[in-house]
Amino acid sequence: MSEFDGLPSVRWSLRGLTEEGDEAWLIRGIARKRYHCPGCHGDVEIGDEHTVVQYVRRLGGSDHHHWHRRCAEEILVPELGRLRRVPAGDSSQTKLERRGRYPSGRRRR
Ligand SMILES: [Zn+2]
Repeated sequence: MSEFDGLPSVRWSLRGLTEEGDEAWLIRGIARKRYHCPGCHGDVEIGDEHTVVQYVRRLGGSDHHHWHRRCAEEILVPELGRLRRVPAGDSSQTKLERRGRYPSGRRRR
């Protein structure tokens, strides 16, 4: 892997592109309820530090999933292109949902 360890922190999130051209934002989160990890199909327990993966779709729209940190690092991150670190403040759910209201060609970079 590159200079990234694949794990978002309090200060930094990660942003990459899926093969379909959707943005995938990886954000550190603390589970407020029990979630289902798409990587291993196991549970993310309440209180667990984990990785929220928010997709902002190329054609518009956004949706998110809750992953174990290790599952996101081992399964998801290797599939993403153009991965870069972004300040966590730029990746709040509200901002990303707003970003998803526009198709990718009409978004600010
Ligand atoms: Zn998992």
